[in-house]
Amino acid sequence: MKNNKKRVLSGIRATGSLHLGNYLGAVKGMLELQNDDDYETLYMVADVHTLTTPYDVEELRRYRREVVIDYVAAGLDPDKSVLFLQADVPEHTELAFYFSSVVSMARMQHLPTFKDKVKQHPEHATMALLNYPVLMAADILVYQAGFVPVGIDQEPHLEIAREIARKMNAQYGTDFPEPQRFATKGEYVPSLTGEGKMSKSVTGSYINLTDDLETIKKRLAGVPTDAGKGSEVPSEGGVASLLQLVSLFQGDEARQQYEQAYTSEGLRYQDLKESLAQAIYEELQPIQEKRAELAADSEKLDEIIATGAEKAQAIARETVTEVKERMGLL
Ligand code: AMP
Repeated sequence: MKNNKKRVLSGIRATGSLHLGNYLGAVKGMLELQNDDDYETLYMVADVHTLTTPYDVEELRRYRREVVIDYVAAGLDPDKSVLFLQADVPEHTELAFYFSSVVSMARMQHLPTFKDKVKQHPEHATMALLNYPVLMAADILVYQAGFVPVGIDQEPHLEIAREIARKMNAQYGTDFPEPQRFATKGEYVPSLTGEGKMSKSVTGSYINLTDDLETIKKRLAGVPTDAGKGSEVPSEGGVASLLQLVSLFQGDEARQQYEQAYTSEGLRYQDLKESLAQAIYEELQPIQEKRAELAADSEKLDEIIATGAEKAQAIARETVTEVKERMGLL
């Protein structure tokens, strides 16, 4: 088995169109690695993972293709990266089952990400949800990938992937790498509500890559603020979220100026929100133009998806065959 530590795998669930958290926390890192010749990059739409929380069948059918459109619009290039749908490569779910034989139930049940999701959807505490990190380990290791550009919220899952790699190597003599997270400056994008992270499942928390200037302004207008003046700049809540976005879209210097205003003459949130909305929109506009092009060309999209599946499966099949041999299944 080839231990190629320079291989990269990442994915985003097909739960809707991408938001700024996905873009800054994951896609920016995916782009950076794609454009570095030292890495071979595989990027999937995690459509199978979408089944771990309640979903609508017709929406999933649509979103799994839309995320590919978002990927390409954001700069992922099917000539440089393998872009594919997870469900098109059944080796992921096959390997996940083999991996599940080296992980204890207790380890999975104690993961904070599992507990959070059960709290959010108590009626949906399924085996699929419990198995999410095992499937994620299979997604990565089926390609022997050593680098995973994802947000910091995924770190506990990567730890599971490393544990599985170690156990498989020790028990069956495989040569899986221990995958590391590739972090971006936007590894944690806070919610516009001022509480927790930006997330598709929390209304009022996000800005979509498809939002126009007016929508961005409206969403920023809803961020809770304060009097704009005080001895200490808040480190949490809506004000902290705004300043973090300023940092990410306008740079640390702009943030420092606002912070200085806060502790002296006072900060005018209306001005901050106006210029932040402009800065975000300027970055999103070219993505939106490219998005419209591919959305109008379903043949090209089909071709990208089919080619990606073929390339990904060729690698995945090799790993699964070797694992089956080593586990006594061949
Ligand atoms: P998900 O939508 O949960 O499949 O997440 C897809 C990717 O986006 C993962 O790499 C996450 O870590 C990343 N991500 C999601 N929300 C955020 C956020 N608020 N800040 C940074 N990264 C995020």
